Amino acid sequence: MIFKPIIKTDCNKFFRKSLRKINLYSILKISKIISCKSLLNSSSIEDLFICWHLDKINNNWISFKINTNKLFCEVLDLSNKRLEVYGQRTKFILPKWSWLLRLSLSDSNIYMCVNTRHICCNTRKLISLEKKLLNKNWFTGLRVAQSELRRINKTIIWDTTYNNIKLSPILLWNINQIINCISSIQVSYNFLQNIGFRSIGCAPCTRAVDPNESSRAGRWWWESFRKLGLECGLHKI
Ligand code: SF4
Repeated sequence: MIFKPIIKTDCNKFFRKSLRKINLYSILKISKIISCKSLLNSSSIEDLFICWHLDKINNNWISFKINTNKLFCEVLDLSNKRLEVYGQRTKFILPKWSWLLRLSLSDSNIYMCVNTRHICCNTRKLISLEKKLLNKNWFTGLRVAQSELRRINKTIIWDTTYNNIKLSPILLWNINQIINCISSIQVSYNFLQNIGFRSIGCAPCTRAVDPNESSRAGRWWWESFRKLGLECGLHKI
């Protein structure tokens, strides 16, 4: 695995330029006013990019990482590296062991039935997350271009699930813009990204995608009922 060093100095010029160019600055300013400081970090390059900006403007930001106990080793390695760099700003959310033990017998069924798969997502991700996000405004790295099935078109929305405001500052960015910026500021990301894993979830449920596929096409790819099948339930489509 190749880790690029995280360089936290000499980036101010790029920072100011990128903020002007993409109007991210105004969104981040709004985030301060509404006390939005949590980022749900999936270890995608989108989330890593937002983290980098947050670290420049907000002293109180926190990044949450859900450890479903099914993550790729590369993702865990990167998360540990980030823990070293960002310390207490990186929090891991773990599902309760008793929930996981109950689930393990039916684990293999995630490939057979959408409902069973949703039970797994619910248990490993959503229940633990609810406490963290309820009534607390949050950032996401959502982009419209990630999937043709996501009908998300607003940068700032009221999220009825968690009773909070959801900010998606890079909603209209394309993948090349993100890659260019990440390379310029030399933020470390995991090797999977280089071999086609453009949306990274749990290892059993994520495959690499071809260049002509959308980023989300590699998530739960075996499900035939695609319109419902490409989400875990965190974001409403
Ligand atoms: S993505 Fe797969 S392994 Fe992860 S919680 Fe959902 S069904 Fe379970």
